[in-house]
Amino acid sequence: MNEIKHSARCMCGAVVLEATGPHQSGEYCHCKWCQQSSGSAFIPWVSFRKEQVRVLSGELSYYHSSPGCKRGYCRDCGSTMSFHTDEYFDLTLGIMDDPESFRASRHIWTKSRISHVKLVDDLPEFKESGP
Ligand SMILES: [Zn+2]
Ligand SMILES: [Zn+2]
Repeated sequence: MNEIKHSARCMCGAVVLEATGPHQSGEYCHCKWCQQSSGSAFIPWVSFRKEQVRVLSGELSYYHSSPGCKRGYCRDCGSTMSFHTDEYFDLTLGIMDDPESFRASRHIWTKSRISHVKLVDDLPEFKESGP
């Protein structure tokens, strides 16, 4: 069976990832940790189950950001690339080669949303992680 594949890469190209099959969900996370780790106001995440994603070349470096969770980045160029739990291997939308293929369905952790960042879509908003 030919499943769709999505590739992703960091800014310098040292780390290349590949996800197979449809993503599980997409969301904009406004939590403080996403703000700090990216330097941005929020991170758009594309969620995959961990079996769906593999590293094609290079190597992710990790920061263990909270119990059971780690964040992946490229140690050469510093690109914010992934978020890992026991079940999931989430990718940042900005590293995807085909970012237009993914839509987010909600905003989460809006209690730490930066107030002058205006949300102009009609997606549901959750103060914390949501259901
Ligand atoms: Zn890199
Ligand atoms: Zn977050």
